[in-house]
Amino acid sequence: VKKHSQDWIDISIPIHEKMVDWPEDPPFRINRILDIEKGDSCNLSRITMGVHSGTHIDSPFHFSNNGKSIDEIPADTIIGRTRVLDLTNLDNIDVKDLDRLKIKSGERLLFKTRNSENALKSSHFVEDYIYVTREAAKLLAKQKINMVGIDYLSIGSFHDKGDETHRILLNAGIWILENINLSSVTGGEYDLICLPLKIVKGDGAPARAFLRKITVV
Ligand SMILES: [Zn+2]
Repeated sequence: VKKHSQDWIDISIPIHEKMVDWPEDPPFRINRILDIEKGDSCNLSRITMGVHSGTHIDSPFHFSNNGKSIDEIPADTIIGRTRVLDLTNLDNIDVKDLDRLKIKSGERLLFKTRNSENALKSSHFVEDYIYVTREAAKLLAKQKINMVGIDYLSIGSFHDKGDETHRILLNAGIWILENINLSSVTGGEYDLICLPLKIVKGDGAPARAFLRKITVV
């Protein structure tokens, strides 16, 4: 019997002005346009941010004008059974590492790497985060998984053609969830709910994401 735990784990990154963004992406800024403390009837804020800030999803349109945009994401991609893979022993995620994981077509996969303990906790951008190699991305594309997530700002390398990793996945119709915090999550089966903003023609969008453990009794 498979049992759902009662507790939803929030794997989203807090959004604030000191958060770490991809170099040269627009920083998150918030201005209180109306402020109760200043005598206004309510608090009302304006924000500016890049759509790839914080926990977010990349849509195929990010790297291809023919690709789907974030407003077209299927609910089935971001809601449902998900496998968290503990890859905290790896320096990057390569083909040989994926081979032993028995990945099935249609799976939602979240990669827990050492980023959750290291890069993600740093107060500045870390270039040497753990990423998915191009060859591994090709394998995931061949395996026709539904979506993939990783615990830093990019699924591809900073130094070595990370764009290619994105293109391979997105062109294969695999949506990418980036910058999730998996530090309090162990490997195993979960329910995922991850809801990106419905930005028309969006190349991506910030998202709130939760996991709920499924245990077999
Ligand atoms: Zn992105």
